[in-house]
Amino acid sequence: MAHSLLILPGDGIGPEVMAEVRKVIDWFGTKGHAFDVSEDLVGGAAYDAHGTPLHDDTMAKAQEVDAVLLGAVGGPKYDVLDFSVKPERGLLRLRKEMDLFANLRPAQCFDALADFSSLKREVVAGLDIVIVRELTSGIYFGEPRGIITENNERVGINTQRYTESEIERVARSAFELAMKRNRKLCSMEKANVMESGILWREVVTEVGKDYPEVALSHMYADAGAMQLCRWPKQFDVIVTDNLFGDLLSDAAAMLTGSLGMLPSASLGAPMANGRPKALYEPVHGSAPDIAGQGKANPIACILSFAMALRYSFDLGDEATRVEKAVETVLADGLRTADLLGEEGKSPVSTSEMGDAIVAALAAA
Ligand code: NAD
Repeated sequence: MAHSLLILPGDGIGPEVMAEVRKVIDWFGTKGHAFDVSEDLVGGAAYDAHGTPLHDDTMAKAQEVDAVLLGAVGGPKYDVLDFSVKPERGLLRLRKEMDLFANLRPAQCFDALADFSSLKREVVAGLDIVIVRELTSGIYFGEPRGIITENNERVGINTQRYTESEIERVARSAFELAMKRNRKLCSMEKANVMESGILWREVVTEVGKDYPEVALSHMYADAGAMQLCRWPKQFDVIVTDNLFGDLLSDAAAMLTGSLGMLPSASLGAPMANGRPKALYEPVHGSAPDIAGQGKANPIACILSFAMALRYSFDLGDEATRVEKAVETVLADGLRTADLLGEEGKSPVSTSEMGDAIVAALAAA
């Protein structure tokens, strides 16, 4: 049965980078991997058509398919809208109603771009790690919260709160991911100073008993931040809570260079077919400053599709093939404008980059 994929290009450069993903999907179609692709509106584009950033029918479709691939939402045209119908609300609704509790942020450094990193080439070249961040609980959601007045001064309050089941499900996602990669998982918390960290460590250790093939280690999150900068290649999969994951995944992503290169996935509970509910999207936004000019780098969106191949469609070899094709075009010197550090080189356009990746796929 064909894998079902809902494509939501969105706004700004979203449709431009998604057009390049379509070329990759079509190429796989010619190689016997047919995808049942449907396309719909999200964000400002959905607001323009329906007066809402995500139509109920689109939401229902997202719940049914094997995976959703989103481009980007937002743009200055929509800044004046009421908060309740802003483009970003469409994306938030998808994440909330699909209950996507595990956010996967890979940090992968292609050799040809190693000099783009602020760290030394030998520290980052060949880096390939994934941070799994718990996305729907923890200090950003815990109660009580607020700003109160106490003893004649204001007090800001947020609460770190995790239930066992919340920790267990994200730990399970991380172990499953580790099983698909190098069977190595590091869990990060602050069990030295936080009770939620003690519970986190206990539950992750308990879940680990179901995955004896995975080498599990624990690290305090502050030491983890240090180690990520010192020698990131010691890690493979990292699992951590919402707050620490927010910081660590941004830091790790920047080890690798441009925003135009960063894919992501948000996973939920397993569906009837055993695979998790999933939304894949580039980390970047709709980039209104370059939209419509053929300047956008499509690689983050193409690599997001590669993640869908690996994690939603069980097509790990095909995912590796896409990543290798990206590596090849970069090694050949092709650069969209965001990747141009050197003087005197002219950038390729969004569609030229997409065409080159498909050509590299075909040549492999
Ligand atoms: P942005 O990520 O859109 O752009 C930041 C900078 O990076 C810009 O200079 C842009 O040109 C560049 N850039 C981003 N992606 C690129 C790519 N693929 N290729 C080349 N250059 C790229 O962030 P922003 O400017 O803060 O936000 C613009 C709009 O996007 C806002 O409306 C914001 O709300 C929205 N946004 C959406 C998402 C999302 O859809 N997930 C995420 C972040 C921001």
